[in-house]
Amino acid sequence: METLTLSEEIRERVREARSLVAFSGAGVSRESGLDTFRGAGGLWEKMRPEELATPQAFRADPEKVWRWYAWRFRQAAEAAPNPAHLALARLELEEVFPSFTLVTQNVDGLHRRAGSRNVLELHGTILRAHCNRCGQSRDMGEAIAESSEEPPVCSCGGKYRPSVVWFGEALPDDVFAQAAEESASADLFLSVGTSSTVYPAAGLIEVAKRAGALFVEVNPEPTPFSRLADLRLAAPAGEAVPALVDALSRHR
Ligand SMILES: [Zn+2]
Repeated sequence: METLTLSEEIRERVREARSLVAFSGAGVSRESGLDTFRGAGGLWEKMRPEELATPQAFRADPEKVWRWYAWRFRQAAEAAPNPAHLALARLELEEVFPSFTLVTQNVDGLHRRAGSRNVLELHGTILRAHCNRCGQSRDMGEAIAESSEEPPVCSCGGKYRPSVVWFGEALPDDVFAQAAEESASADLFLSVGTSSTVYPAAGLIEVAKRAGALFVEVNPEPTPFSRLADLRLAAPAGEAVPALVDALSRHR
């Protein structure tokens, strides 16, 4: 994407902004070769995520679900952050705005690997596992190294599972509450690579908009929130986000 030109009105809002919330979804990771559920090829291509990413699936066939997450963990470990991850990290590390919060629906850890620090993981993380009985938490890589074919058994007798939010499970209350609080006080709200259709996560856009934030949407396809966008960039995140971050930095 070429240099992005912001309107005078938007430039003024950017100059005055104190806090920014970036909200990222699967579209950001896709450009690192990770499709949240549908990996490109391989053993799992024909599986529907609804058959694997649920508490019911884990109860019915814990070995299969564990092997799938072991595979996804390795995919994530081999992937590299792309220009969108790196540009968002730059916005935080260069302190372009006094307050920066990254809220992500992705579980692959790529934002942190790109250098982002203040990250709220709404759907948990594939980098950790916890016991389904006592909650004991451990590193996912170590858990897989111990047992890649079936979930390791905890000392309490429970089984380890990935620390991600499955279909039918609630988002972690504290993380969501913090994301909602940051969104309600955001001057700038960037939505990147998400179709914004999954509630309650998508409700953050409504919260920010109602509180008067400037709303920027980056997504190749229109979303249900596109009509509310003050600025909409219909392009892949890896192209649009670096251009957007340059423009925001330039107008501070
Ligand atoms: Zn346990």
